[in-house]
Amino acid sequence: MDFSTRKLTISGKLYFPTLLELVNYYMRNDEDLGTCLRVPRIRRGALEYYVDTETLKHKWGLSESHLTLGTSIGKGEFGEVLTGTYKGMQVAVKRIHDEKRSGVAVTALLREAAVMTHMHHKNLVQLVGLVLKGSTLKCIVMEVMGKGSLQKYLISRGRSVVSQAELLGFCRGVCAGMSYISAQRFVHRDLAARNVLLNSNGQAKISDFGMAQRTDIHVPHEGGKFPIKWTAPEALKDSRFSSKSDVWSFGIFLWEAFSYGRVPYPSIVRAHYIHRD
Ligand code: ADP
Ligand code: MG
Repeated sequence: MDFSTRKLTISGKLYFPTLLELVNYYMRNDEDLGTCLRVPRIRRGALEYYVDTETLKHKWGLSESHLTLGTSIGKGEFGEVLTGTYKGMQVAVKRIHDEKRSGVAVTALLREAAVMTHMHHKNLVQLVGLVLKGSTLKCIVMEVMGKGSLQKYLISRGRSVVSQAELLGFCRGVCAGMSYISAQRFVHRDLAARNVLLNSNGQAKISDFGMAQRTDIHVPHEGGKFPIKWTAPEALKDSRFSSKSDVWSFGIFLWEAFSYGRVPYPSIVRAHYIHRD
């Protein structure tokens, strides 16, 4: 690690912003090591999600020259989401804000992209493709959800505009999407009304796979970001995330929906996310 640039190196000549990029490079080049890296040795809890950027590029790579970016429609911890067009199609584009660019942010976006490649369901926001430069992911291109987040939709319209039948329709859609995620052996870990988006026809789709994880690889006592009011007790206490803890979050989501976008446990004032080592 070069501490001034926070980049990783083996040779002292070539530097990589993330471990994934270093590994990807040395899978294809045998200088410095005398042999190429072949099969990742997965140590439980260590390398929990291995991403092969060459395969991603082959299957999902888009050409940047066909992409035009529009205005900003959302901002998160690392990411910003913009409107855009790809070959004339309206899309949404998620990328890292420039001032937040770091190895951690680049790896997080790559993980999110890799998860999205497994998700094809009418109630999940669909990946269109990825713009990669070398093995660095520049942005995620996805279907655009014209009416934005369900949380903002409900809070701004309220019960006089949105009927109970319409609410039930959103909840059924989210339920179908979550059932698919569980059947794909993933946990979402961040289901909340802010991460359910509505398209221009008012169809609800689950988005934000930034915290999603495969269930067949258990990561014990993992730190990171927790949406505290949406997370099941066993997940908060012992990092035991499962489809069951996603069902807990679905329960909180139902409360948000039928409260027309209010924040759960209103008497407890806390940031939505807590960070743990
Ligand atoms: P973060 O991981 O930073 O929370 P999200 O994926 O939840 O990022 O996106 C942040 C916001 O950007 C969302 O709440 C939503 O308002 C907007 N957004 C994200 N994806 C889309 C999309 N496909 N279409 C329209 N708006 C979107
Ligand atoms: Mg989000």
